Amino acid sequence: MAEGAADIGGRPKGAITLRQQAYRGMGVDADYGVAKDTAILWRITRLIFKYRLRVALAVGATIAAAIFQLMIPHFLGEAVDNALGVLNNNTITEAVAREALFKAALLLLGASILRGIFTLAHNYGGEAIGHMIAYDLRLAFYKKLQSLSFSFHDRVHTGELITRGMLDLEGVRMFVNTGLLRLVLLINLIGAGGYLLLTNDPLLGTLSFSFVPFVAWQSSTARLRLRALWLALQERMGTLGQIMDENLTGIRVVRAFGAEPYEIAKYDVASDDAMAIADERIKTRAASTSVMTFAYFVAMGLVLWVGGLQVQEGAMTVGDLTVFLTFITILQQPVRQLGLLVNSIARASTCGARLFAVLDLEPAISDHPDAKVLKPSKGTVRFENVSFTYDDENAPPVLHDVSFTVERGKTLGIVGPSGSGKSTIANLLPRYYDPSAGRITVDNVEIREVTITSLRQAIRVVQQDSFLFTTTLENNIAYGDPWADDAMVQGAASTAQIDGFVGTLPEGYHTLVGERGVSLSGGQKQRVAIARTAMLEAAVLVFDDSTAAIDAETERRIRSALTKHTAHCATIIISHRLGALRHSDEIIFLEAGRILERGDHDSLIAQGGRYAALFAIQSQDDVGEKAIQ
Ligand code: ADP
Repeated sequence: MAEGAADIGGRPKGAITLRQQAYRGMGVDADYGVAKDTAILWRITRLIFKYRLRVALAVGATIAAAIFQLMIPHFLGEAVDNALGVLNNNTITEAVAREALFKAALLLLGASILRGIFTLAHNYGGEAIGHMIAYDLRLAFYKKLQSLSFSFHDRVHTGELITRGMLDLEGVRMFVNTGLLRLVLLINLIGAGGYLLLTNDPLLGTLSFSFVPFVAWQSSTARLRLRALWLALQERMGTLGQIMDENLTGIRVVRAFGAEPYEIAKYDVASDDAMAIADERIKTRAASTSVMTFAYFVAMGLVLWVGGLQVQEGAMTVGDLTVFLTFITILQQPVRQLGLLVNSIARASTCGARLFAVLDLEPAISDHPDAKVLKPSKGTVRFENVSFTYDDENAPPVLHDVSFTVERGKTLGIVGPSGSGKSTIANLLPRYYDPSAGRITVDNVEIREVTITSLRQAIRVVQQDSFLFTTTLENNIAYGDPWADDAMVQGAASTAQIDGFVGTLPEGYHTLVGERGVSLSGGQKQRVAIARTAMLEAAVLVFDDSTAAIDAETERRIRSALTKHTAHCATIIISHRLGALRHSDEIIFLEAGRILERGDHDSLIAQGGRYAALFAIQSQDDVGEKAIQ
């Protein structure tokens, strides 16, 4: 578990399991040690160095802004002394005093304008570089997500990944301006300001600075506490996001079961938790601000008192006292900002750790260094004694010693009870997972020895879950071949028997589908998914229960239209409906990951085993259905 801050504000009710799942295998641990933090900050800084010219300009602007800011008290002091000189009319002549006053005012104005310009350049530079590294990291993060294997995505909740890709990335982005450049600014302001004051008048200088250590300490501890609370709040927000995400995705189930009150209560508990932490944040911030303001006014009072006495004694001018008071006013803001600096550094190291933990993950499945491009000649697929366990130490094996061969032009049917491992076979072929034992070959080449891209181009799987993107029907069908012309899209749609339905839509193939478009039925979605695959060349075609929501007659028409494709490939049909696979050259009956029976339809019926029993039940159902019709 990753959280130093996890216990702040109470444990999240009901959210532990989700978080534990989210962190498993993400490489984030509870160690926020200095060495680790420094390494992470250095890694972020190295990212920034990529833009070294911009960094140099921003740092230069920051230093210039500090220098001009430090000039302001001096010019103000001079102006005050000149003004007093004119008022008293006894130290300098009026004309000289007016000229000096005018000069001091001009210098003050000039210093203020230049300070403003350089501060603008410092802020712009910091923000711009921050956004540039955010762009780089965002892209790297997204690329990494594309490369990570299914076993990773099985474990880690989408909401958690989105939080890392958005909020944690933001923490790293802000480090440039609020961390690094502010550090340069504060070192200059506090360092040079302190030096000037202490060398000018050690006593008053010390008094002016008396509030600095206290406010810096107060602000830093408050910020660290705020950061811990912020982290805890992020966790709760992540949980809230997950609950809302699941609620919206499963909205039909929620409504069907009348579970709205339960869902609201679940959200309320998580929301309540988040509010308690937000409340604590407000209290911490308000308390620390009051304490810091008090300390600052105490220091100002001391300077005014001691300095005032010196002015009365004639040991210093009012202008010099003004310099001290203005310095305190100027220093107030940056000293308070020390807390922001500490916060920014702490936040960047935490956020960076969480972000880099994902970026540093090695995909469990990747190309072998000597991987060749698969060029299927015959397209013979072979499973040789394949066994498989999903990535969970306690889970039982899902496939045991499964062997079969499918040649080009031939069809293998796979049937078996739910959970028997049918889809797992479909998942192993394109290397979504690798077998725990045994080999899978295409034309006698083990699939681990070929590039994943070429493997997935050769083996096309129409999945059970026919996910459609929020775009037009045309784009969904041509997803695997964006250069396909209209005729190819329409040909694929006709093979999948979806062209008739598309013809009834006013915008035809340009109709938007998905969340913000036309809602399609389960069967229509499955047909679009079949069309998406029918567009593409393949050596091996796998249909993973991909016609479950399509009626038997349409399914028969799809099969017959697909023959022009399947004649040139090895085909695997996974279905619980025996009508879909009874004409297969070989059928295997799978149970608990083992092949229980195998043969063609007739021989399986003759065996009188599980397949024959299932066929008898389904035949009766068919007779019943026909009778009803
Ligand atoms: P079928 O397609 O025959 O219904 P599956 O191949 O989907 O069966 O699943 C076989 C077994 O593997 C089931 O017990 C299922 O719970 C488990 N399983 C499936 N997918 C995963 C996964 N991603 N992680 C862990 N276990 C899984």
